[in-house]
Amino acid sequence: ALRSSAELIRAEAETVAHNYHPLPVVVARAEGTWVEDVEGRRYLDMLAGYSALNFGHRHPALIAAARHQLDQVTLTSRAFHNDRLAGFAEALADLTGLDMTLPMNTGAEAVESALKIARKWAYEVKGVAPDQATIVVAAGNFHGRTTTIVSFSDDPVARTGFGPFTPGFRTVPYDDLAALEAAIDDTTAAVLIEPIQGEAGVRIPADGYLAGVRELTHRAGVLFIADEIQSGLGRTGTTLAVAHEDVLPDLLLLGKALGGGIVPVSAVVGRRDVMSVLRPGEHGSTFGGNPLAAAVGSAVVDLLRTGEFQEHARTLGAVLADGLAGLVGRGVLRYRSRGLWAGVDVDPAIGTGREISERLLTEGILVKDTHGSTIRIAPPLTITREELDSAIGALGKVLGA
Ligand code: PLP
Repeated sequence: ALRSSAELIRAEAETVAHNYHPLPVVVARAEGTWVEDVEGRRYLDMLAGYSALNFGHRHPALIAAARHQLDQVTLTSRAFHNDRLAGFAEALADLTGLDMTLPMNTGAEAVESALKIARKWAYEVKGVAPDQATIVVAAGNFHGRTTTIVSFSDDPVARTGFGPFTPGFRTVPYDDLAALEAAIDDTTAAVLIEPIQGEAGVRIPADGYLAGVRELTHRAGVLFIADEIQSGLGRTGTTLAVAHEDVLPDLLLLGKALGGGIVPVSAVVGRRDVMSVLRPGEHGSTFGGNPLAAAVGSAVVDLLRTGEFQEHARTLGAVLADGLAGLVGRGVLRYRSRGLWAGVDVDPAIGTGREISERLLTEGILVKDTHGSTIRIAPPLTITREELDSAIGALGKVLGA
């Protein structure tokens, strides 16, 4: 017998670890910008799987690529070659302007992999003394959930209870070039930065920051690692968020939308001389670079090559920004947005981010709060003008504007 949403939520609470606090909606089907729950209620998806669904749910071209590959071969392990991996890496090189790809699965794995590459590069190329390499990160960062990554988080909820922590990280304020410069010394392997801090509430640095990070790291002989797992692949109106300042990092981290919302696919894409510090046996992943992932990832790159999604994110991004600007002083304290990505600080007197998200749910809109009274808006890049207008209208309504 079919189980109701309420029954499924109860059963999940009994049997699934409580590491999330989902909104009370049980999705059973989805297409494009819309999801449908067990009872057939429809919701506009304004979160898009934390930007894993930039092309919407079940984009026909991505589903077709996955279906085709399901009938060929899905997994080989890297013990053998597969006929999809080279094309995927070539496509990523072409898309990004970098040279080589290390294929992984989740975002956190891409981050971990880049940290390992940077350390090895520091010892082998830069000549840092054994086990002395440092990596500079920014306050407010979010790079994932592994023990090493939470070691350099400053979010007490992410850290507390999970020590002892991995040493070798230095934290500087985000968007502060002087502090960054001061933190770099002869031990520094890399600077790891989100071009826009997603989980921190869509925090956009001042113009010139990313170019400054590039210039500084170049001058100091330090790698620039850009974590574009959330900001990349069209979200901000360009393929990469670093393109807004026309800079190219040494190592670029991609994930989320790279798997088209179908399979977990992540990658470290980087300069050949840096990537070349990895030799056989030194790093790996059973699933990384599997033919199904590579086929879907290649189809994602094909979609991005058209430029349509980036352009749509720019055009509708302006509509989103206008709509949010109209709510400032009417329930919204301030907002930050770039492309189809926004962090909206609501007046805490009206409600927490969680409460606003719950009210939007009853209006048929899915969003998610981040810290405190901030909600993030990141719809599929396929959203229409009418859908976006209705979401902004619903936000105004629940804020009492
Ligand atoms: N890096 C950034 C910037 C992210 O936003 C995230 C996820 O939210 C991650 C890394 C971690 O990705 P995953 O959850 O796939 O491990």
